[in-house]
Amino acid sequence: MSAGAANSGREHRNFLVILGGGESGVGTAILGKKEGFRTFVSDRGKIADKFRLQLEEHGIEWEDEKHSEEKILKADLVMKSPGIPDDTPLVSRLREKGIPVISEIEFAYTYTNAVLVGITGSNGKTTTTMLTHHLLKEGGLNVGMAGNVGQSFAKQVAETNADHYVLELSSFQLDGIENFCPHIAVLTNITPDHLDRYKYDFNRYIASKFRIVKNQTEKDYFIYDADDPVIMKWLQENPIQSQKLPFSLREEFEKGAFIKDEQIIIRTDNSELTMPTSNLTLEGKHNAKNAMAAATVAQLLRIRKETIRQSMESFQGVEHRLEKVLKINNVQYINDSKATNVNATYYALESMESETVWIVGGVDKGNEYSDLLPLVNEKVKAIVCLGINNEPILNAFGNCVDTIVETRSMEDAVNQAYKLAEKGDTVLLSPACASFDLFQNYEDRGRQFKEAVRKL
Ligand code: ADP
Repeated sequence: MSAGAANSGREHRNFLVILGGGESGVGTAILGKKEGFRTFVSDRGKIADKFRLQLEEHGIEWEDEKHSEEKILKADLVMKSPGIPDDTPLVSRLREKGIPVISEIEFAYTYTNAVLVGITGSNGKTTTTMLTHHLLKEGGLNVGMAGNVGQSFAKQVAETNADHYVLELSSFQLDGIENFCPHIAVLTNITPDHLDRYKYDFNRYIASKFRIVKNQTEKDYFIYDADDPVIMKWLQENPIQSQKLPFSLREEFEKGAFIKDEQIIIRTDNSELTMPTSNLTLEGKHNAKNAMAAATVAQLLRIRKETIRQSMESFQGVEHRLEKVLKINNVQYINDSKATNVNATYYALESMESETVWIVGGVDKGNEYSDLLPLVNEKVKAIVCLGINNEPILNAFGNCVDTIVETRSMEDAVNQAYKLAEKGDTVLLSPACASFDLFQNYEDRGRQFKEAVRKL
């Protein structure tokens, strides 16, 4: 296929510059090269060895630890990695010159005719993406998984020929689209997150998430959480073209997914799937919602009902998301390190069925902890703070639990929790905060937790 084929009539633009030499950048470079672009990758930081090797293997020009501006400003098209904020001076200059700056998703979309499922939301993207992929794969489809999880979408478009892709899309990926249009879009929920990148304006972040439907037509589907007031308000004020398939734990729909008499019911055009809620291996109300969204996608893509039911049961869950680690002295240890905001932790606490020792803290992104107070009163017997600055947690919860201790290493936190927990309790790591004060990232935090638990 040559540049400009498949999904767009974009005319051939020759010089492609890629800002950021990570997974999405290198994937885009490989696809760009294959499609006949002169391709140049520029990264202000250091490009990891793994990616440098890939660039060299494909004979792609690159530079790191600098941006050669003069050269970059000659680009016909620029792909910016989602990690680079929109208001960096270089990006502003490119825009002033009228050079299109797009995301990897937009670029790769141009070169595939596969059926695309796009999944976004503040929480639940990865879980829903992996579950959807699992259902479609078990259903026998030739399906790839990309976006924020797994291998770059662009690289897969260049090197494999899946005829379906399930894409996990962050708001940053969606900010960089023009024509990208998933046949099926999923919006799991919207709660304040990443506001530092949206000038602390929640409305901008909401608008960014809804870009997922902007190019959809009446032939496409939009699956969303109808219990989410932010989503519902936006939909009232902004009519959309797509066929709407809501899911809810409270309402019933003529078309959509809901729960009745312990059964999940999913109604799409001419088809109805029922599945006992006991089929779900993932615990918590939020995961029931993720399952409804994923099963709706599978049903739209005509996966057999029996396969959907069975595959729901065989899904193992995702590491660092309410992951059961070990039971020691009849105390269950749960790793929810990926809970980097209050909403994710809300659902974690809500799903606790026994007295909980809660490990919380880290880099607070301006958290509003008051939403958690009723749950903490009901479920939490002791709090172990784990962060460099534990003030906000001490202030928010100091009065509502008897025991609150401060720690500054995972090992110490786990040891304290071990001492505080009694038979039948749960120890939950669900930090509600980012991890960068004491850990490299949330994966590192989760792994350290599991290691410390195994050492007990
Ligand atoms: P994302 O990719 O959007 O960050 P994940 O699936 O990685 O989402 O889950 C992130 C955190 O949010 C985990 O702590 C998980 O337990 C929680 N979570 C998962 N699904 C939902 C949901 N639908 N609503 C709220 N929280 C959720």
